[in-house]
Amino acid sequence: MTDNTQQTTFAELGLIPTLVERLEALEYSQPTPIQSHTIPHVLEGRDIVGGANTGSGKTAAFALPILQKVYQQENSASRRGNYVSHLILVPTRELASQVAYNVKSYSYHLRDKIKTVAVFGGVSVNPQMLALRGGADVIVATPGRLLDLVSSNAIKLDQVQTLVLDEADRMLSLGFTEELNKILALLPEQKQTLLFSATFPDKVTNLSQGLLNNPVEVQLQSAEASTLVQRVFSVNKGQKTAVLAHLIKQHQWRQTLIFVNAKNACNHLAQKLSKRGITVEVFHGDKGQGARTRVLEGFKSGEIQVLIATDIAARGLDIEKLPVVINFDLPRSPADYMHRIGRSGRAGEVGLGLSLIDFDDYHHFKVIEKKNKFQLEREQVKGFEVEDDQSEAYFAPMKPRAKPAGTGKKKKKRNQ
Ligand code: AMP
Repeated sequence: MTDNTQQTTFAELGLIPTLVERLEALEYSQPTPIQSHTIPHVLEGRDIVGGANTGSGKTAAFALPILQKVYQQENSASRRGNYVSHLILVPTRELASQVAYNVKSYSYHLRDKIKTVAVFGGVSVNPQMLALRGGADVIVATPGRLLDLVSSNAIKLDQVQTLVLDEADRMLSLGFTEELNKILALLPEQKQTLLFSATFPDKVTNLSQGLLNNPVEVQLQSAEASTLVQRVFSVNKGQKTAVLAHLIKQHQWRQTLIFVNAKNACNHLAQKLSKRGITVEVFHGDKGQGARTRVLEGFKSGEIQVLIATDIAARGLDIEKLPVVINFDLPRSPADYMHRIGRSGRAGEVGLGLSLIDFDDYHHFKVIEKKNKFQLEREQVKGFEVEDDQSEAYFAPMKPRAKPAGTGKKKKKRNQ
């Protein structure tokens, strides 16, 4: 096996000059570690499990070698009939749009040769059907809409050569099992499979084994490599909104992304903040796709300064130089914690991931720390110090939590 750690240019990784030129134009001066460690193997046709911090360049790690393969492949099957040869599955519509945009950008000089189509729900299916006429080389898709397009014969998956699961642990989680199994059944047995994510919980690693053929495993997640600072503030019960408003006013962050756990919690918190003179927008699954796109664009451009979102914004979204992410509610899954805060501190920028915890969150935050292998000092916010009686409780030995009624595993709620 080649030692890729010594390779420092995209050309040395085996990429063709046309792609390298484009990367220079995009000011990608050097491959990131996940790119160095995986691109040569993807070019060789190996299956990959690729883990690296959020914002560390995973999209290019799978997209560039795929584009090169399309380019080098004569008589590509994809361009006959309604076939697709490379399928990238992602969990959210916004991520489908973003990844397709990146793939198109990387293949800018090859745009006459390579056809990339994004397919996702919440928007009219007709333009997507039209775009798929004559097949596509690369499709970036959310599972539900992809299946709709298959059942209306707009696309055929039996010639797929490469399957990418971006945010692989999410794609392999219970919420997607049914759709993913249907898609897998439509794909040929022989194909290259690439799994990428910042988090690979153990149960996902086991699940993925059946999908992969002698994969190259690269796990580069590290706290040292992260440019993201994490902080946690202990807050009195009932004072989270006041503390949040105080922090926003005090720091005057250029943009602030706040996570809560449910759609109605977004609206509720938005109302409370606006009563405190803070203008916010909300981003969740009950909003129409047009509104979702507008809000996200407004936030990315800086027009919207404070955005309250559910976990539909937690995965993969690349918001340039986002200064801070705040967990108003803690996410249930420790992996989601890493993805949420990972919207900040991307591509080597300094970032801040901040969590507000009250007494009810104390135990769960310890679980998040343990699973993600870090430990933070509990800080206090000046003027909102935790009252003595509650402060004691924070440091009291943990009591085991009573199990809620009904023990069966439930599908992840889609209240996002
Ligand atoms: P990703 O993790 O793929 O979402 O990428 C995170 C950010 O890093 C995006 O804004 C990319 O454009 C950027 N990026 C990816 N690879 C490189 C690279 N080799 N050099 C500079 N920026 C990069």
